[in-house]
Amino acid sequence: MRLAVVGAGINGIMSAWALLEDGHQVVLFEQADPMGATSSASTKLLHGGLRYLEYGDFGLVREGLRARAWWLKHAPQHTRAIEIAIPVYRHSTRWRLTLKTGLLAYEMLAGRYRLGGHYWLNGADLSRRVPRLRGDGLRGAYLFQDGQMNDHALGNWALSQIVAMGAEVISAVFVNRIGTDGVVFTSQGERKFDGVINACGPWAEALLQRSNIGSRFSLDLVRGSHLLVARQYECGFLVESPDDGRPCFILPYEGQTLIGTTEVRHMPSEPVECSDREFAYLSHVHDAFFDNKLEPTSVVATFAGVRPLVASAQREASAITRESAIECQGRTLTVFGGKWTTSRELGLRVAATVRNWNRHGPFEK
Ligand SMILES: Cc1cc2nc3c(=O)[nH]c(=O)nc-3n(C[C@H](O)[C@H](O)[C@H](O)COP(=O)(O)OP(=O)(O)OC[C@H]3O[C@@H](n4cnc5c(N)ncnc54)[C@H](O)[C@@H]3O)c2cc1C
Repeated sequence: MRLAVVGAGINGIMSAWALLEDGHQVVLFEQADPMGATSSASTKLLHGGLRYLEYGDFGLVREGLRARAWWLKHAPQHTRAIEIAIPVYRHSTRWRLTLKTGLLAYEMLAGRYRLGGHYWLNGADLSRRVPRLRGDGLRGAYLFQDGQMNDHALGNWALSQIVAMGAEVISAVFVNRIGTDGVVFTSQGERKFDGVINACGPWAEALLQRSNIGSRFSLDLVRGSHLLVARQYECGFLVESPDDGRPCFILPYEGQTLIGTTEVRHMPSEPVECSDREFAYLSHVHDAFFDNKLEPTSVVATFAGVRPLVASAQREASAITRESAIECQGRTLTVFGGKWTTSRELGLRVAATVRNWNRHGPFEK
């Protein structure tokens, strides 16, 4: 079939990849630059998501851990394993036993794709290893391994693979509407396809609305910001924000330090950028754990992205599932939500759904 994929973020690219493997012809439409939006504004982790264990999302964690192994194996030039410490203080809300249980479960779910066993380092040893870490009330830390990527470079590597497989990539073309008969209406005219994949990430719902296509799903948009700081620490950290106890990462990244992320409900009309409030929140997280206060001048860059989360009644943004959903209407298929790490699995599900298009009804999850 001749298929259009709208949106060249990682979900659109990996959907195109799986569709090409199934023998389809694929045209990928992107309103700006491929990999220019959410998929290049992530925390850069290839992970199962240790914290999703707190919500009982075991399937999601297992899928992420297996997907992590795929990226590490296929694109070692843009990925690596990193060591992350979870410091435990007298006032920490997550107890040592809770963390130990979580890490054991994380490693068990990874199975043969485990990166290495976690271990405990006492406060004195940790302070020797990371001299700038605040020592008051420090009991020690668990250290474990996870995956890290350069999301922009890794996504562009995947893009180069699909181009080599024959995908046509059309950048700087805005898709106004799609039709359930497979027509794509762009800023440069209309084209007819056998099917259309809507992989517009945070903008997927807006495209459906403009196209007058109803949906049983909607998206909660949650902005996440990061600071990139000209400093280097000895390992990564997963810490509890002193303001609200939310987990935040302080990670070594390409010779600098990445601090994130926030979780703020986002309105489509708002700019996708780190607000002053988020900047202050992230600086506060850093300063609560390190004794070398963060000066604004040491912040090299800030960036933000909007998580497209499948809508939920949950009030806390961090408690909303990172799972994805797929919905078909006629010859259109829309991807809702998803994580970077599991984009390949999502792409495979898109291809499997397209394979069954003639056999099933219009709605599939
Ligand atoms: C702050 C933050 C941190 C995250 N950290 C991680 C992490 O560490 N690990 C992880 O696994 N996941 C992480 N995620 C999740 C992950 O980044 C996203 O789920 C994923 O990148 C979404 O990809 P996407 O392709 O759906 O969306 P996008 O990357 O936004 O791609 C959608 C594309 O569609 C294009 N588009 C939209 N409308 C149109 C139109 N009408 N016409 C043409 N093109 C259009 C856009 O320009 C865009 O390029 C994070 C997300 C955020 C926000």
